[in-house]
Amino acid sequence: MDNSSKYLHPEFETLSREGIEKLQLERLQATVRHCMNSPFYKKRFEEIGLKPEDIKTLDDVRKIPFTTKQDLRDTYPFGIASVPLRDCVRLHSSSGTTGNPTVILHTQKDLDAWADAVARCLWMVGLRPEDVFQNSSGYGMFTGGLGFQYGAERLGMLTVPAAAGNTLRQIKFIKDFGTTAVHAIPSYVTHMHDVMVEQGVEPRRDTKLRTLIIGAEPHSEEQRRRIEEMMGVKAYNSFGMSEMCGPGVGFECQEQNGLHFWEDYYIVEIVDPQTLEPVPDGEVGELVLTTLNREAMPLLRYRTRDLTRILGRTCPCGRNHVRIDRMRGRSDDMIVLRGVNIFPIQIEKILMQFPELSSNYLITLSTDRDNDNMTVEVEIADLFTDDFARLQELNVKVTAALKAEILLKPRVKLVPKGSLPVSEGKAVRVVDNRKVYQ
Ligand code: ADP
Ligand code: ZN
Repeated sequence: MDNSSKYLHPEFETLSREGIEKLQLERLQATVRHCMNSPFYKKRFEEIGLKPEDIKTLDDVRKIPFTTKQDLRDTYPFGIASVPLRDCVRLHSSSGTTGNPTVILHTQKDLDAWADAVARCLWMVGLRPEDVFQNSSGYGMFTGGLGFQYGAERLGMLTVPAAAGNTLRQIKFIKDFGTTAVHAIPSYVTHMHDVMVEQGVEPRRDTKLRTLIIGAEPHSEEQRRRIEEMMGVKAYNSFGMSEMCGPGVGFECQEQNGLHFWEDYYIVEIVDPQTLEPVPDGEVGELVLTTLNREAMPLLRYRTRDLTRILGRTCPCGRNHVRIDRMRGRSDDMIVLRGVNIFPIQIEKILMQFPELSSNYLITLSTDRDNDNMTVEVEIADLFTDDFARLQELNVKVTAALKAEILLKPRVKLVPKGSLPVSEGKAVRVVDNRKVYQ
């Protein structure tokens, strides 16, 4: 490993656009041929009379039907696999945030390629074998645990499988082991910082932390800047999903100008979720991914339900792998309130602009006297909780700023620090108690 190189896999990371597309076509054709070993895909292709040899250009990917989460559920647990079970060495499942979990199988080759992808991401943000990497995300079925573990080891770092929770112990490890990089869910980082403050630990003074990897849940640019400021680090956005292995799919480089999606691993499409037609670069749509080097369970045109847009296909870092905007959320996270579409992240973005507010918030939807309403509870960061006049004034300002963003006036409640639930896993930001009229 050449420590001074900017790239871990220069032969793939610095491919030209033509180079990327040539490799993608070869890998797509091989993947489609391999998928004919999957009873599910074989039947799908036969139903519409599509043959692997019909895929002659990269655009021909659009001839292939989409694969959905429902398909994974219908074939639960092993029905989409393209290899016999005896060739598989591991399975993972999604966190089940939006329903039944789905199962993903891996061969040893899949696990190796996955570790390479994660190592490549970590290298891209400047981590090197000298770093001490603490993984503070859940282990087990959740892919953020083992995914980062193997990736960080592959890079050669001393890797601490701290797992989620037990915040006092996390902080002790960071101090005792000289941890320089932590991976955690953003909502957990802010909780960890609160506990540091309580314990009199000042990250800049008392730790060697300089890099944070944050991901697994939507968060705003404002939230990232806040995390960087409070922890005295650079924080990089990491996108992954179990169906695509886990972490290592999309990652920011040091430019922090969007997530590079590795196009030697995936074909990236953004489609209109209604018409399913591609949208032009820059327009928001649903992210659709095709795996290009998976053995056990390749997925063709998988509808992720994550909404985002393409930002560009070049980058000052020298990588031409497509740059994708941070996720707005999933199509099923969208709140439709009195006909207005709202993403929780829009609310977070506004709240984070107020230094008086902490990062923990909860959106509750309710029906009062036949009207649907939104209440935004947010914890106060400052110690001026007894100053009612100031609180009142702040409340008015926050309400007005939210109304300007979401076009509806929510009820804002400023609550004392520590009064909203904190989750060790993905934060629950929305509670929907609305009456449903049939
Ligand atoms: P589940 O689908 O049950 O939550 P996963 O752990 O596979 O299980 O989660 C993948 C999903 O998490 C993605 O589809 C996306 O919605 C969300 N996610 C992951 N990383 C990010 C990120 N960096 N920003 C926003 N959302 C993310
Ligand atoms: Zn870049």
